[in-house]
Amino acid sequence: MLLEKERAELAAAGRRLAAGGLVIGTSGNLSVRIDDLIAVTPTGGVISELSAADMTVMNLDGEIVEGELAPTSEVPMHLSVYRATGAAAIMHTHAVTSSAVSVTLDEIPMIHYTMLGLGGPIRVAPYACYGSDDLAAHVVKALEGRQAALMQNHGSIAIGSTLAKAVDNLELTEWLCEVYVKALALGTPRVLDAKEQEDVIMQALAGGYGTTKKL
Ligand code: 13P
Ligand code: ZN
Repeated sequence: MLLEKERAELAAAGRRLAAGGLVIGTSGNLSVRIDDLIAVTPTGGVISELSAADMTVMNLDGEIVEGELAPTSEVPMHLSVYRATGAAAIMHTHAVTSSAVSVTLDEIPMIHYTMLGLGGPIRVAPYACYGSDDLAAHVVKALEGRQAALMQNHGSIAIGSTLAKAVDNLELTEWLCEVYVKALALGTPRVLDAKEQEDVIMQALAGGYGTTKKL
């Protein structure tokens, strides 16, 4: 089986996202890339129940190389994002708070320093029908210089330099949306200024943020 390990990892990512409440049923689609091949979830598949054999392998031209099930309807979006970025994986779901924010707001401003790991404020890509080339183009634009974006009246998308990183980035996006919604309910959220952001970058570069260190 081509990309057997990556297909199994994609299935595990789907189970993790579903266990975390970020995926309901067949909503969302996931993919992973190795060189010029990608493995994608099948259209209509229940994300939490997929196995490695259910994934479809295609090349970056969209030609199916191996698999038994038709690929996700969002193939245009996945291919466009891979062509435009160096991503190794793409996670798209309809997580509740990300979806709620996407129907109401145009952006999540710099409310928390962890957003720097996603490249800055989270943009909302303008609405277009699922599966369309227009949606793919809007998402590519919203992801410029970013590891995540929201899709208007739809959900969220995250990319990563590894499959695990893409999952982390999608979970972080949902967490940030939850924080922002709660903050808005309390009052006017404070946004980090340029100097505060710069200090975080220097601190993270000096110390290595989010990694354990030997004493
Ligand atoms: P698929 O089942 O075709 O992947 O569609 C789900 C989805 O989330 C479309 O955006
Ligand atoms: Zn979707």
